[in-house]
Amino acid sequence: MKITVTRKVFLIIATLIAFMSGAFFTLAHNDLEGMFRTYASEARHRTAVQWADVISYFYQTENHSWVNVTDSLTKMMSQNRAQHDLPQQLIVLDGQNHIIVQAGVQTGMRDRSMYTTVPIMEGDRQIGTLLIYGEGLDPLYEIEETVIHTMTLATMWGIIIASALALLSGALMARRMTRPLKFILKAIKQITRGELDTQIPVTSTDEFGQVARAFNEMTRQLAATEEARKHLVADVAHELRIPLTIMQGQLELIQQGVRGPKPEDLLPIHDEVIRLSRLVQDLHQLSQAEVGKLQLRKQPTDIVHFLQRLLENFEVEAMDKKIKLELQTIDEQLPMLKVDPDRLTQVFVNLLGNALRYTPDEGTVRVEVTRSGDFVEVALSDTGPGIDPNHVPFIFNRFYRGDEDRSRGTGGTGLGLAIAKEFVEAHQGKIEVTSELGMGTTFVVSLPIN
Ligand code: ATP
Ligand code: MG
Repeated sequence: MKITVTRKVFLIIATLIAFMSGAFFTLAHNDLEGMFRTYASEARHRTAVQWADVISYFYQTENHSWVNVTDSLTKMMSQNRAQHDLPQQLIVLDGQNHIIVQAGVQTGMRDRSMYTTVPIMEGDRQIGTLLIYGEGLDPLYEIEETVIHTMTLATMWGIIIASALALLSGALMARRMTRPLKFILKAIKQITRGELDTQIPVTSTDEFGQVARAFNEMTRQLAATEEARKHLVADVAHELRIPLTIMQGQLELIQQGVRGPKPEDLLPIHDEVIRLSRLVQDLHQLSQAEVGKLQLRKQPTDIVHFLQRLLENFEVEAMDKKIKLELQTIDEQLPMLKVDPDRLTQVFVNLLGNALRYTPDEGTVRVEVTRSGDFVEVALSDTGPGIDPNHVPFIFNRFYRGDEDRSRGTGGTGLGLAIAKEFVEAHQGKIEVTSELGMGTTFVVSLPIN
């Protein structure tokens, strides 16, 4: 038999019921018996005191002599024979424990502990001790028997019915409680079969509900990752096809003798090889960053100085397009940042490259450095065409390029922003974009201080 959670819960409830019933039963039984015992012993004592009074009365009426007391007692007891609660033996002892009076159907002296013992008093003076045995409490014991018997039966039935109900509801509850587990198990099997986007119903807010929610989130991620992987392969294949086709075409022309293998004829092929190498290098870096294997060679860097030097490299390009390229910093002395200058160079070269590429002649590209809490923010704004709001969510995806760049074959591979994002995030920073069509685009790179 499989030990399922349902069965375990059921077993726990059953054990609990058995334990509780046992405890209840024993306690109730003992209590009741104790109650009867006390009641009986009190009753015994009361009867004994009454008899002691009677004996004291006889003693006094006989002129303080014990001589006729036994006779009076015997007479009295035989007159009351009809009553069931007569004691079987009455014994009076004097101060030296000598038997001086004896009455009743039983004779002889038995163990003292079996007698109820009370003093016989005359006023405040003790004149003897009464030992009384078998003082006819039979009806009381009979009642006790009946009550205990009835109670036992009632408790037993109560326990049986309550247990049955508890077990039934326990079993139902256990089933209900573990039902989400069955869903999860089924879903895991589906995932094993490759149905990655399997979702399970979230029916509660308890731990099972949380597991279900986490599970759904996980499968969503899995499906997205799988989707991305498929896209990546397709994208890479696509990116490789164009340069390869061009190279093939050029090589065929050379082979057919249409073109001689002069250095300038090899130029288009060389261009494509460069493009391919860059693609492979970009892909390599991206994949490394994505699996978190990127080695950062961090060193204290003065970010303003760093940006100044970087901008110098773009001055010629900016001048060609008559673009105003400016760097603005706040007066406050910025702390040194621990960053990898090579990686950051790649990030900003791409951002500046994009900005200069998209900004029309006589536009402006501005770089602003500010401090915001624990971060230094570098904002790159251009006066380019802006990015379509529908495209904004995707521009950090690899191979993503605007429609025009794609169709015209201008621009790069579409990996630049994806790499920038990974590199910035490897520095525990973040990169954000705001853009307005016709107005321009601003990329903000936030880098943590320390
Ligand atoms: P790579 O950087 O790999 O050479 P790329 O520049 O085309 O190629 P990204 O830098 O990732 O690729 O940019 C992705 C796309 O985002 C670009 O093709 C372009 O459509 C859009 N884009 C990026 N920066 C700007 C900008 N400053 N203004 C307008 N569009 C932009
Ligand atoms: Mg780019």
